[in-house]
Amino acid sequence: MEDSPSTTKPHLLLIPFPFQGHIIPSAHLALKLAAAGFSVTFVNTEAVHHQIALANDEYLARFSGADGGHRDIFAGARSSGLDIRYELVGDGLPVTFDRSLNHDEFAVQLLHSFHGKVEALAGRLPPISGLVADTFFVWPATLARSLGIPYITFWTEPALVFSLYYHMDLLRHHGHFGSQAENRKDTITYLPGVAAIEPTDLMSYLQDSDTTTVVHRIIFKAFEEAHQADFILANTVAELETETIAAVHREKPFYAVGPIFPAGFTRSAVATSLWAESDCSQLLDSRPRGSVLYISFGSYAHVEKKVLEEIAHGVMASGASFVWVLRPDIVGSNDPEPLPAWFKKETAGRGIVVQWCRQAEVLSHPAVGGFLTHCGWNSILESVWSGVPMLCFPLLTDQFTNRRLVVGDWKVAVDLGGGSGRMAVRREDVAEKIGRLMRGEEGVMAREEVKKVRSILQGALAGGGSSSRNFDRFVEDLKCRVSSRRPV
Ligand code: UDP
Repeated sequence: MEDSPSTTKPHLLLIPFPFQGHIIPSAHLALKLAAAGFSVTFVNTEAVHHQIALANDEYLARFSGADGGHRDIFAGARSSGLDIRYELVGDGLPVTFDRSLNHDEFAVQLLHSFHGKVEALAGRLPPISGLVADTFFVWPATLARSLGIPYITFWTEPALVFSLYYHMDLLRHHGHFGSQAENRKDTITYLPGVAAIEPTDLMSYLQDSDTTTVVHRIIFKAFEEAHQADFILANTVAELETETIAAVHREKPFYAVGPIFPAGFTRSAVATSLWAESDCSQLLDSRPRGSVLYISFGSYAHVEKKVLEEIAHGVMASGASFVWVLRPDIVGSNDPEPLPAWFKKETAGRGIVVQWCRQAEVLSHPAVGGFLTHCGWNSILESVWSGVPMLCFPLLTDQFTNRRLVVGDWKVAVDLGGGSGRMAVRREDVAEKIGRLMRGEEGVMAREEVKKVRSILQGALAGGGSSSRNFDRFVEDLKCRVSSRRPV
């Protein structure tokens, strides 16, 4: 849209996976790449854009086109001098289709029709020098090869999770994944760069017995493509995953450039939220330091109503002040009242329940002393950056593996339990663990440890730190690679 990308700078096509936890780091990666001298075209799906526009109407109205129609989430960034454009593609379904309620139909489109849409877009754009695409897409290496450009796979989760998917064949070979009979239950000790991991710490998709689902097909194909990537750019930190990264790096250039946050952390220059953000500052400003529990299960997972009810009982019994984010579709978009009717009345004055918030702003408020989280990777990075210890309640996908990092390896979190396929929790445990995190010895220890991990993150992003150096090296290596070939 607007003016075309610069013809002197290498032009990158950057395509986030159309989920909130992927869009946020991808948008900030786009800003970093543009600031590093690339011309960037960022591609959202029409459905994602529609949802962002609805949620951020006021903000985006400032940047609406002359016709008042198209709202460009990067218009502000571009007016500050960054060479970054915004394009939309269809994902094969009508914009108003309920992707949360009909996840598998949506996934089928991602598997089959997205490729063609991106290919058609690439044909309409000025010459492209490189494709930066989320690792979960099933087509980027194939598309990049047909365009004669490098594929930079963008990984938004820990290197450990990347490595486990990357070595699925080894897990299969040893009977820890995809066995005809039951999968092995003993400790996994043969993966490069992963000294030992329990099968219960694998991602949920590697613990499933049915491996024929559409999500499995996506993962299998996506990692076939990842095996053909030219560069891996990852939102993690070298010092936190040294051995795992070194092992992947022996196979393919791997650049740990995280944590990728908005400049200034709490406020984003780009509108990325899919739901309207509530302001939580009134409650937070009125509470003592470290006294508020922040609760969120992220943007994607659903939670069963009876599980939410147990958690609600536990939160009430814990006596803690709280900010609780409950998306309108947390149980399912056909169930808009996820909490039991008594909860709001019984906890009035003690906490607030909101649909969505500016999470980074909430986490960095001094009143927040703990985070009951589903262990999404962005949430973990943001919590650590804010010095907030966690209580872990993973629900699916990488969240079990992420829990192993924060509870087992870094000791910055307390575990609330739950395993793949076992989304169960008892109200007594919720209340007790909240108490331990907010007021107990375990919380004190986790708070001390989180300071150490936070200083690792800060050091990585500082000038001369590992992530800064890795990013510079990546930019240099990519520029070198693209200058040696003519863009298509
Ligand atoms: N988030 C937010 N407001 C909320 C809840 C979440 O801005 O009320 C953001 C959060 O800061 C994080 C992202 O949404 O950047 C969620 O990503 P994560 O990897 O933690 O989990 P996912 O949603 O992918 O499961």
